[in-house]
Amino acid sequence: MSSKKTVADEAAPLASPRLIVLAGPTAVGKGTVAACVREHHPEIWISVSVTTRKPRPGEIDGYHYHFINDAEFDALIANGGLLEWAVVHKAARYGTPRAPVDRALASGKPALLEIDLQGARQVRERMPEAFLVFLAPPSFVELVRRLVGRGTEGSAERERRLETARKEMLAESEFDATIVNTDVRTACEELVDLFSSGSSRSNS
Ligand code: 5GP
Repeated sequence: MSSKKTVADEAAPLASPRLIVLAGPTAVGKGTVAACVREHHPEIWISVSVTTRKPRPGEIDGYHYHFINDAEFDALIANGGLLEWAVVHKAARYGTPRAPVDRALASGKPALLEIDLQGARQVRERMPEAFLVFLAPPSFVELVRRLVGRGTEGSAERERRLETARKEMLAESEFDATIVNTDVRTACEELVDLFSSGSSRSNS
C-alpha cells in the first residue's frame, strides 16, 4: 500500500478519516473487500447503495443493494436523496442514499462507501474531507482473469466492463491511497487501518 500526500494535506489540519470511499476497476474485488469489512469489523458502517440493476442469484434486497426501479431512482435524484450516483457499465444506475451516510457520520461511526470511480469523484467534490482509496489488482492480466472467472457476465457485458476497467486503471493518481488486492483479508485489514492512520484533508 502506498499513501500519497496532497497539496491540500499540507494546508489543512490532519485528522483520521471518518468517511472512506473505496473505488477501483471492475472485478478488482471491491465488493469482496467490503464484505470482509462487514463481517470482521461491525464497528464500521457500510453504505447500502440503490441500483436499477436486477438482483443476481443470492443477492438480498436491502443487504447487498436496495433494488429499485427507474421511477424510484428518478424520484431520489429529484429529491436530492443521493450523495452521488452514476450509470455504471452503460447498463444500470447506482447511487448512495445521502441520509444514512449523514446519520452514520453524525453518530461518530466510521463510514465506508464502495462505489465506482465516477461516484468517487462526486463524493470528493461534495465531501472534500472524504478519504479516497483506490483498490488495484496485482496486474491487468489478473484483473481479466478475475472478471472471466467470476462468470456472472456474458461476453458482451464482460467486454464492456473490461473497457471501463482499462480507463479506471488510469485514475489511480486521483486517490489518497492505493491498496493492492492480492489477498482479500490483507486488503481488508489495510483498509480498516486507514481509519486510524490515514490523513483526511480537514477536520470537518
Ligand atoms: P455490481 O453490479 O457488480 O454489483 O457493481 C457494479 C459497479 O457498481 C461496481 O463497480 C460498484 O462499485 C459500483 N457501485 C455499487 N454501488 C454504487 C453506488 O452507490 N454508486 C456508484 N457510483 N457506483 C456503485
